[in-house]
Amino acid sequence: MIRFGVKDYIRYLKKSAEEIGQNKDYITGLDSATGDGDHWLNLNIGFEKLIAETGSWNELTYYELFQKIAMTMMSAMGGSSGVLYGSAYLRSANLLKDAEYIDDMLLGKILHSWAEAISERGGAEPGHKTMLDTIYPAAVAYQKAQNEGKKSEQCLAIMSDAARQGAEATKQMEAVKGRASYQTNKAVGFLDPGAVTMMMQLVCMAEYINENCLN
Ligand code: ADP
Ligand code: MG
Repeated sequence: MIRFGVKDYIRYLKKSAEEIGQNKDYITGLDSATGDGDHWLNLNIGFEKLIAETGSWNELTYYELFQKIAMTMMSAMGGSSGVLYGSAYLRSANLLKDAEYIDDMLLGKILHSWAEAISERGGAEPGHKTMLDTIYPAAVAYQKAQNEGKKSEQCLAIMSDAARQGAEATKQMEAVKGRASYQTNKAVGFLDPGAVTMMMQLVCMAEYINENCLN
């Protein structure tokens, strides 16, 4: 069973921040090929701000924590991704009003709410070569594994794999939304940077939960 509490969520954010921080050249290269090259900068600023703030967040409720994350990302991060991540966290905060822990079921709902909020805010659908192509299949695969009665550890592994495959699949997609859609070849042959960074965060989360929040 998953028992992922507020303090652990903050530790997971730090792990994600480190992962993003270490991949500056890779992520910047991806966004330079298909967009304007600022995706790493945007995301990294957001995560640095989050980490600077988290010291005072340990005693918050989950609802408050997710609202703070949303507001911080929205205000600190430039580009489309700030608004999209902000919307995702705001939407999922509503699922956490009475929650002390994120458990197996709640995690599935949160992943779905992120996909829903991002799609509604940005107007993209799965297949449009965006971050949605990672979060959506990850959410679907996780919930399917859960409905089939698989163990928490397996559900998390399946979620990670779906995120990796989803990000990889953007390579062959034609961009419909975002800056990559302005390219004459619709960025076919290139990975979508937002899909890759979403994947990094989801893989980090699955790893973190696996190592620290299963009982
Ligand atoms: P910008 O495109 O404004 O420069 P970023 O570089 O920070 O913003 O983020 C780019 C990423 O944001 C893209 O790779 C894509 O995954 C995601 N993205 C852009 N527009 C949308 C949208 N309308 N819906 C979903 N994701 C989007
Ligand atoms: Mg950009």
